[in-house]
Amino acid sequence: MSQLRKIKISVSKAKTFEQCKRKFYYQYILKLSTELKVYNALGSLVHLIFEKTFKKWLESNYQISLREAAQEAWQNCKGTKEWIDAEKFDSIKKAREYAVQYFKKYETEYMDESKPIRCEPKFVLPLQIDENLSAEVVGFIDRIDRIDNKKIWLLDYKTTNKVQYLDFFQLGIYTAACLHGPYRGYEIEAAYVLLKHGMKLKEMDSPNRTYMQEVEKMVKIVKEMDVTINETKLFPACFSKLCDYCDFQKRCYKDTGGPPKAVRQSFSKTGADTW
Ligand code: SF4
Repeated sequence: MSQLRKIKISVSKAKTFEQCKRKFYYQYILKLSTELKVYNALGSLVHLIFEKTFKKWLESNYQISLREAAQEAWQNCKGTKEWIDAEKFDSIKKAREYAVQYFKKYETEYMDESKPIRCEPKFVLPLQIDENLSAEVVGFIDRIDRIDNKKIWLLDYKTTNKVQYLDFFQLGIYTAACLHGPYRGYEIEAAYVLLKHGMKLKEMDSPNRTYMQEVEKMVKIVKEMDVTINETKLFPACFSKLCDYCDFQKRCYKDTGGPPKAVRQSFSKTGADTW
């Protein structure tokens, strides 16, 4: 393994690898297709509505109202893949509810403090791991808002119910991409916007000070991924409660024999009086 190697990675790819190598193998090596779920369909449409609305508002240099921008965005979403997928789960009304709720909250609580400057910008964060291994972390940031000329918000919309499982890996990597890219020297605020929790923010504590630990986590994952893909080629299953939400559960249980069964103990009524 001495030749120069480069790994292209995203936050979700890294998280899948960390969660279960077998899942990673099915998703990113075999590239097996996944089934569309209601929460993915709803989340994708809400993301699209937000993206189109804030882009439109930004293009107008904030001259039209957010409501006008949202109305136009809504019309432009009709017929898109995200719209058709959401229709399959009868989720259009729900997506509208989330959008209306968020725009109202934005207008009353955040609009005076900050304004969107980028919607869904692509970033590339290069990492030199050692002399032979490098990585390119790629992704899209849902939204960047400007607070003042040296301070920005990084925002990521989340449709999950399980807020307790949200760590700051993703926001830490976004912070690194900004600080080592176009927002060098800026003060960063970063948060998840929790759509299923009244649009509350789950904020990362001092991103400028803490993001490096998330970068170090990414470096560790890249090193392990490199060894797994290029050397051991072993992708063991990691059975956990997350298996119930895994797209590849059927295939995995067939290939591996499923999770270890709990061994039933049978006890005789009286002890044998000896070990
Ligand atoms: S079912 Fe569980 S162990 Fe199997 S691939 Fe999915 S997450 Fe991994």
